[in-house]
Amino acid sequence: MSRLIVISNRVAVPKGGESGNQGGLAVALQAALREHGGLWFGWSGDTVESFTGNIHRHEGAGVTTATIDLEEQDIDEYYNGFANRTLWPLFHYRIDLTEFERDFAGGYARVNDRFADTVLPLVGEEDLVWVHDYHLIPLGRKLRERGVSNRIGFFLHTPWPPTRLLTALPSHRQLVESLFAYDVVGFHTADWLDSFHHYVTSMMGGTVDGETVTADGRSIRAIVAPIGIDTAEYEAAAESAEARFARDRMHMSATGRALVVGVDRLDYSKGLRERFLGYQRFLANHPDRRGLTSFLQIAPPSREKVDTYQAIRTDLDALSGSINGEYADIDWTPIRYVNRGYPREELAGIYRSARIALVTPLRDGMNLVAKEFVAAQDPTDPGVLVLSVFAGAAQQMTEAVLVNPYSAEEMADAIVTALAMPREERLRRWQALIEGVRREDVFWWCGLFLDALEAKTPELV
Ligand code: ADP
Repeated sequence: MSRLIVISNRVAVPKGGESGNQGGLAVALQAALREHGGLWFGWSGDTVESFTGNIHRHEGAGVTTATIDLEEQDIDEYYNGFANRTLWPLFHYRIDLTEFERDFAGGYARVNDRFADTVLPLVGEEDLVWVHDYHLIPLGRKLRERGVSNRIGFFLHTPWPPTRLLTALPSHRQLVESLFAYDVVGFHTADWLDSFHHYVTSMMGGTVDGETVTADGRSIRAIVAPIGIDTAEYEAAAESAEARFARDRMHMSATGRALVVGVDRLDYSKGLRERFLGYQRFLANHPDRRGLTSFLQIAPPSREKVDTYQAIRTDLDALSGSINGEYADIDWTPIRYVNRGYPREELAGIYRSARIALVTPLRDGMNLVAKEFVAAQDPTDPGVLVLSVFAGAAQQMTEAVLVNPYSAEEMADAIVTALAMPREERLRRWQALIEGVRREDVFWWCGLFLDALEAKTPELV
């Protein structure tokens, strides 16, 4: 079996052989690394005055990680710049928030060069190389330029934007061309793959034949591989003592009320403002139901160095305050809005206490909270998932109550539908959802991608 080299912006260092409190992606990649051998390469999270290319190696729990430090300027231009001020908003259809700065593009290229230079000596002849996410799109090409002829795969964890949005990026052609340095390119859903196909056929004169995409004389395999969660582990977490404690706290805090929860990173793509407005509309349209529901939104801040993330925080503070000011009573707070993270077990308990989860991003590559909520439910009395049609997860989770998050009326109606849903229907929908979440878990996803990467590429057959 070939060794595996995983490359991503950040690296999850395994903790003591257990899954610990790591995300499903980290757990699955570590399992793949244990099976294949090899290493996980990325940025250490630390900065240095001047780039050295020194590699910090760490061995633990059967997994080797190798990290490098970057310069402050690298982080400003590559991470906070091109990745999170240019590509992230653009890939989430927010051209209004997209910043186009030459310095960002320069920093992005420079850091991808730095990754290529430092990982190069670590790549053995037969190794499979798997590059992750929008931070590192050009890395495959940079490795090819340095003579790497291994099989290299790329997986995009965000949406792929429509052609007419992508062309707003000055270097769009170069960015897409660099994907043709890979053997396999993976997307979460058929929608994102379709958009990629559209760019290739309409802008590059390329062709699509099944999974084979050809442009400029080079063929790659472009596949759909929807990521899942570590479902078995999540189901167990929901039964843990910590989860039970969190569930009891939730129930005690809202006796006799139906709990509605939202759990998201504080990010404009998550549709938090629209969700608050949808809940406000529900309260406005249904005076008889006021006081009978309690909405808890958990949203820890992220990417605080980027201005738009500070702006959204201020905006949501004001909006939740004004909704509470309008509707709260002496013994009832309509929205509890909490800006911090919780350990996985506690989150699982919170999900299980909820009658409804509102997972309503305006655009999301996949959305794992939707899957976690389903995995955490009581199989005899499950809650209802209200899911945005614009989350990648909606393409698999068709038994959720699907909504258009831009419509406050639709959101309000969905809350009423979910609150009124008979147990039988909740059970039927949940059963269908959990089967999918169990079948297509993160290990299945990892295997799907690696099988594609290990197979010969079309042009080599
Ligand atoms: P994104 O990757 O854009 O943040 P996902 O929904 O795909 O969105 O993944 C988010 C992950 O972060 C999930 O595993 C979720 O449980 C976790 N998460 C989100 N909010 C919190 C929180 N407040 N505390 C702990 N974990 C959180």
